[in-house]
Amino acid sequence: MLSVAGAYWRGSEKNKMLQRIYGVSFPTGSMLEEHLFRLSEARRRDHRKLGVELDLFSIHDEGPGFPFFHPRGMLVRNELEQYWREEHKRRGYQEIRTPVILSRTLWEQSGHWDHYRENMYFTNIDEAEYAVKPMNCPGAMLVYKHKQHSYRELPIRLAEMGLVHRHELSGVLHGLMRVRCFTQDDAHIFMLLSQMKEEIIGVIKLVDDFYRIFGFSYHVELSTRPEKAMGSVEIWDKATAALQEALEACGQAYKINEGDGAFYGPKIDFHLKDSLGRTWQCGTIQLDFLMPEKFNLAYIGEDGQRHQPVMIHRVVFGSVERFIGILTEHFAGAFPVWLAPEQVRVLPITDRSIPYAREVVAMLSEQGIRVELDARNEKVGYKIRDAQTQKVPYMLVIGDKEAANGTVAVRHRAGGDLGAMQLKELQERISAEIKFKVLDRT
Ligand SMILES: [Zn+2]
Repeated sequence: MLSVAGAYWRGSEKNKMLQRIYGVSFPTGSMLEEHLFRLSEARRRDHRKLGVELDLFSIHDEGPGFPFFHPRGMLVRNELEQYWREEHKRRGYQEIRTPVILSRTLWEQSGHWDHYRENMYFTNIDEAEYAVKPMNCPGAMLVYKHKQHSYRELPIRLAEMGLVHRHELSGVLHGLMRVRCFTQDDAHIFMLLSQMKEEIIGVIKLVDDFYRIFGFSYHVELSTRPEKAMGSVEIWDKATAALQEALEACGQAYKINEGDGAFYGPKIDFHLKDSLGRTWQCGTIQLDFLMPEKFNLAYIGEDGQRHQPVMIHRVVFGSVERFIGILTEHFAGAFPVWLAPEQVRVLPITDRSIPYAREVVAMLSEQGIRVELDARNEKVGYKIRDAQTQKVPYMLVIGDKEAANGTVAVRHRAGGDLGAMQLKELQERISAEIKFKVLDRT
């Protein structure tokens, strides 16, 4: 039995109060134990609890569903965004930023006004109606349309870390996982029909690299043409074949969701699996035949005529905020060194060691390592427990012997006591772990 609760018969308070009993049953005792272990792990890893303990973020009554990021949460976030920028630049994406508030006419043109209005927020400027963007697409369309394009320029990959707002009912809000404003790591790729397969392969490889860095495995689902679909059957077949061929070229297994695509194009979804075996849909590659038409997008072909480009929307993290929530639970707050808000904590045993401890801090921070000093007048065992609770990857214990030898006594949050090391040797080890985004060896 897991829990009990009061409930009215048939949900009406006019009826008698009943006792509702929640329980689970398994064929074997060991399966039950595994299930209970998962439940307690999920509670231990809850990102809302860890978000407070690790001082990453908070949510206030003044902004329900609008998360506040604290200095430590911002360090994690900025590392993720920096990695994202480097990888996208390297793969030929160009970054843009489009406004959060745009006119009603634009949302009418994009179709959001008719189909997505209940989820949007509105405002007035100079007596005209405006909306807060729930998606980044229309902004990217305007950037593409701003000048004429030749087939020689394609593909054009416009990436945007775009802040979007979507109305959610207050009852479904959940930490960073379900919010009312979040940052999509969006990109819109404009291309020729003949470039579709190569471009999709590029995105699949990018997603694979990103998830691998965090130790996530994942599975892929392909959603095909629904009954009510826009665009010719011929172009749907071509696009679906491009997605399939791209997946096969990458050696990626996938499941087909027949007829489950959006009415404007087929898509691939990436479902990643966290350390508790739960799956989260994060990445998508969505082909879109509708929006290029609605916005009358064009490029000048080899024949000198106007043609409509093929477009895809794609995200890797999905929502940066939600991804941080997933990572927090996946790692139980023990972020890999490159993401850890505090990478090293220096723990002098007595006040005598503080001057040398300060030298250690200065040397490491000069190398770009995020290091803090715990100079409180507390027993070192207490300081270690505190750093351990904060999931700091490296703890350096410093006493008279270390100060005399120019060494540090190293403790790792997962590996325990690593013994004495030369400071330079330790710095090189940590710098390499940061550079190669190494996961804890446990
Ligand atoms: Zn889009």
